[in-house]
Amino acid sequence: MHIHATVNLETIDDVTCFSATLEVAGRRVNTVYVYLVDGMLIDTGPRHLQDELVRFYEQASFDQVVLTHGHEDHSGTAAWLKQHLGVPIRMHPIGIEEMARPASYPLYRRITWGIREPFQALPLADGVESRTRRWKVIHTPGHAEDHVALLDEQTGTLFSGDLFVAPKVKVIMRDESVPITMESLRLLLRQDFQSMFCSHAGYFANGPEMLRRKLAYLENLCGEVLKLHEAGYTAVEMDRMLFPRKPPVVQVSGGEWDSLHLITSILAHYGLPAA
Ligand SMILES: [Zn+2]
Repeated sequence: MHIHATVNLETIDDVTCFSATLEVAGRRVNTVYVYLVDGMLIDTGPRHLQDELVRFYEQASFDQVVLTHGHEDHSGTAAWLKQHLGVPIRMHPIGIEEMARPASYPLYRRITWGIREPFQALPLADGVESRTRRWKVIHTPGHAEDHVALLDEQTGTLFSGDLFVAPKVKVIMRDESVPITMESLRLLLRQDFQSMFCSHAGYFANGPEMLRRKLAYLENLCGEVLKLHEAGYTAVEMDRMLFPRKPPVVQVSGGEWDSLHLITSILAHYGLPAA
């Protein structure tokens, strides 16, 4: 299978931003960011970018790794880092057991991102220290149960993992929850920050504004879904009305990604039936 990556390296404030856009068998996959700040690596990219990332690691200076969550596009080179550099890898305790086991995610994800090898991670507490800075670890589930954001309150710098990605999401994964994501967005919006580093969309000088946009979109969607439920529509009917166009990922993923999950996660949160 042909895999091609376009790599970019830049420094914003004091954050080194490694990014790569992956093309697998001619299909353009998402862009992934790996950040390095004050001797701390944040996320480790997918296994398919290991060659590119190892070249970056070999000229970078860091002594620990923090994962925003365990998804394979964030944890794919953690095993290499542990074996070759011996650095500790920390993540939310919820994700540790899964990372110690061989990858069990579906085939299309193994083809897209590669196969994450098992590794042993250490549990994050509610704070983590880098060489000269202290980071608040904020549990922010919704996209993934083990998801955390990292905040330096002194400089107002936030690493938001996959909680933001885009303001107007049209599809989510089956395990994601719109209402829980909204709770996490509200929790972050109560923090004091400006710079935001997202794992797929990169840097935003106006982080809170971007999170407010996403929250407003999801609040509006929630309102629509509850109104349509009241009017007697099923989840599938609402999906057809609110999201008439299905992007290719719905079929590629065999339905693991779907706009329908946006709707069913809202209904489930309020204890309402989907049909
Ligand atoms: Zn993710």
